[in-house]
Amino acid sequence: MAKMRVSILGSGSKGNCTLIETDNTKIMIDCGFSARETVKRLQQLGVNPEEINGILLTHEHKDHTLGLENFASKFNVPVFANSLTLQEYERGGLTKHIELNDIMTQDFYFRELTIAPFDVSHDAKHCNGYSIYCEGEKFSLATDLGFIDDKIIESLQGSDTIVLESNHDPQMLKNNPHYPQVLKERILGRRGHLSNTDCANAILNLAKSGTRNFILAHLSKENNTPLLAKSITETQLINNGADTTHDITINVAPQDFVFKG
Ligand SMILES: [Zn+2]
Ligand SMILES: [Zn+2]
Repeated sequence: MAKMRVSILGSGSKGNCTLIETDNTKIMIDCGFSARETVKRLQQLGVNPEEINGILLTHEHKDHTLGLENFASKFNVPVFANSLTLQEYERGGLTKHIELNDIMTQDFYFRELTIAPFDVSHDAKHCNGYSIYCEGEKFSLATDLGFIDDKIIESLQGSDTIVLESNHDPQMLKNNPHYPQVLKERILGRRGHLSNTDCANAILNLAKSGTRNFILAHLSKENNTPLLAKSITETQLINNGADTTHDITINVAPQDFVFKG
């Protein structure tokens, strides 16, 4: 029986929050919905907000921190992030008291979890992905990253479940008349967001080394669809001999409603 359960409160540019539960501990990665919305979505997952033991931050962008101050102060939840993210977040101005912990970008121990941050490239001060270990299980999350290299693959390898960004279809993005050129270049750049193809290639690599459960995340509403993102990863796996109906699970994290793991 799985010791870690992974649910997504929502994922995308309108808010990101992931819930990891064990029998004794509940933590969230990011708090990008308003506190009220976070409470509502936790309740939909059958979780009382007072049960949350800690919040890990990936980076300071609003879609990851919108409800953080209100939620963490109201429910007295400690927040963990690297020092540059904390500095940048605090620069935005805090009016309530919350406990901020500098993780010094090192592995650390929180209750029965071991938490291993790793660096990803994004246009934030310093963006982290996380691997979380509990009793021989490993879960990893990497969203908001411009590219994926061997070092990131190494951090993700050996995970039972991986949440990985599948942000956009480059052609849809390039053809989008509502996006200014500078924004397109930002998203496509080395410090932007991961495309469907980059995600699919990484998942093939990770599936070969044994991961069987993937959740595609941080999809663009304008430059992607859940069906497209999923089919690109599935096609890549099937073309390389994988059976995606039996052996490998690919889910897509929605933006507007919860995904219960
Ligand atoms: Zn971001
Ligand atoms: Zn984001």
